[in-house]
Amino acid sequence: MRLDFSGGRALVTGAGKGIGRGTVKALHALGAAVIAVSRTNTDLVSLSEQCPGIETVCVDLGDWEATERALGSVGPVDLLVNNAATLQMQPFLEVTKDVFDRTFNVNLRSVVQVSQIVARGLIQRGVPGSIVNVSSMVAHVTFPNLAVYSSTKGAMTTLTKVMAAELGPYKIRVNSVNPTVVPTAMSQKVLTDPDFARKLKERHPLGKFAEMEDVVNSILFLLSDRSASTSGSGILVDAGYLAS
Ligand code: NDP
Repeated sequence: MRLDFSGGRALVTGAGKGIGRGTVKALHALGAAVIAVSRTNTDLVSLSEQCPGIETVCVDLGDWEATERALGSVGPVDLLVNNAATLQMQPFLEVTKDVFDRTFNVNLRSVVQVSQIVARGLIQRGVPGSIVNVSSMVAHVTFPNLAVYSSTKGAMTTLTKVMAAELGPYKIRVNSVNPTVVPTAMSQKVLTDPDFARKLKERHPLGKFAEMEDVVNSILFLLSDRSASTSGSGILVDAGYLAS
């Protein structure tokens, strides 16, 4: 399935590392004009070198006012990938206000804010669009010490449906991808205990975690017209975990 995004302008958040970076590279290779949004400028500089011609925006998406300044007049965007997220492990009884607020601001509030900016532009231009929210399988299952992070992803399931319902009449589709563990900087925080990592991997019917490329491919599918009748939905990229 060869996809072609030429003529489209795509915005990817959390583009500096991991899944976001992989998504930018794939969209760029498939002809999209890409706006890469992330927090660490050196990541964006090296990404620009790998993907000549992309635009970059360096901003902390947990800061509403800074985000408004950075993206408020970003111009036309047809495709949006809400991928940026932060994860801090805390047992439920030790959850702090700071971690709660910061995690919800980055992982969920920024999705509302950036999606509003993009959707308003699409509606004004009277053109269709596609938004993909990068969620997680922990929207559906519990994991130790991830109370706050998991809650942002659970809320993202509802937000995705609400957005699909309210933006559908404007021909804007909204979906999520829900991966299991993907080998990135974020998952290294969770898998510090090799024994836990091995047992967790073994619980997956396919006997593996998710490959980054497989997550990116699902994002691309949902962004593309190949999923033109899909909205308010989520693709599990979980190596069968939820079936086990
Ligand atoms: P990484 O930590 O590898 O990369 C996250 C990227 O988002 C980084 O470039 C980071 O920049 C950026 N980012 C984080 N906070 C902000 C912020 N406040 N403002 C702007 N940019 C920010 O994460 P992954 O690639 O692993 O995760 C991507 C998505 O996939 C997330 O939504 C995550 O929840 C989801 N996911 C990941 C899984 C995994 O196992 N890796 C499993 C399931 C879902 P910086 O480094 O500068 O902070």
